[in-house]
Amino acid sequence: MSFNLSCWDHARQVKNKQEPYDELCPEMARKKAMGIDCVIAFMPTMSNFAQYCRAAREAGIAVQSWITPRTLIENPVDRCLPEEQWQKMEKIHGIRLNFPCLNHPQNQESFISLAQDLLAEYGSELSALHLDAIRFENAILQYEFPCECEACRALRKKFFGKEELSAKERLEPSVVYKEIDIKNDSVSGIVRRLKTICEKQGLALTMAARANYLNQPDIFVNPVWGLGPALLEGQDWVKWCDNGWVDEAYSMNYHPNEAYFSQVLEEHMRLTRDSKAVFKCGIATESSMGVNPPERVAKYLREVKEAGLPGCVFFNKNDVFSPEYEKAIKAAVLA
Ligand SMILES: [Zn+2]
Repeated sequence: MSFNLSCWDHARQVKNKQEPYDELCPEMARKKAMGIDCVIAFMPTMSNFAQYCRAAREAGIAVQSWITPRTLIENPVDRCLPEEQWQKMEKIHGIRLNFPCLNHPQNQESFISLAQDLLAEYGSELSALHLDAIRFENAILQYEFPCECEACRALRKKFFGKEELSAKERLEPSVVYKEIDIKNDSVSGIVRRLKTICEKQGLALTMAARANYLNQPDIFVNPVWGLGPALLEGQDWVKWCDNGWVDEAYSMNYHPNEAYFSQVLEEHMRLTRDSKAVFKCGIATESSMGVNPPERVAKYLREVKEAGLPGCVFFNKNDVFSPEYEKAIKAAVLA
């Protein structure tokens, strides 16, 4: 089985944003020489996506278009909380974590439209549509601070007979289950619609998957950006893989702690063993979890290869791989 390298890309290094082609060509050639044959391009930072796609195509690199409901929904209905609840969240967790509420049909439709418009314009240039942060906000903030937007209130009215639940009622196991089930249904519904749209255009649907699916090590300090688990955030990506609702899933296994990296990788191998989707391990050079120096990135790469996975996807905060990373990655791929 061949081993593929991909990377998420913001192309932040580009100075001439309107005419980036000349700057992109040498960088694409460098990536190709490292063995990278797919780039996942973050749409908002690509002011000239046509030139980006052209530079990649000429270097023999496939392009996936990376989108997220977290920041790209126009006029979103955000999570709705009374001001005193926001203040409480900020006091306890040091943050006011506010994503568009994916239970709200307006957000669902807006995100689908965004994807459709994108594919209508650039579909022929792409190999896949890539979903990032396709979920609700971080798990720890769900129970204490349930969204009170009109859609969430209506769903509670339907299932629980009232629009608001007390703290005690929210802890009933059947209520806990249904709140999570509703979230998973909302996000899965979006994923399945996008899968149908992609299929019609002959494109794959891929996703960035939470490293913490169920109960894996996580970041427990403020700000809680890293905190899963995916299952509590409406992102049951293992189910999506099992059912073929996504074609490929890339874990965000960015741990600087080598034992955690191995433990999480092992769990993902077990979870995706019989999956219909392709699973690849995401590795970070640098992320919100910390820095992984070149020798550790090479170690992780060898570990993933030895585990028999078909590829790795790099998250590189700087977008351009320094010569040290380039050398280490090349050596690990050839080993
Ligand atoms: Zn809501």
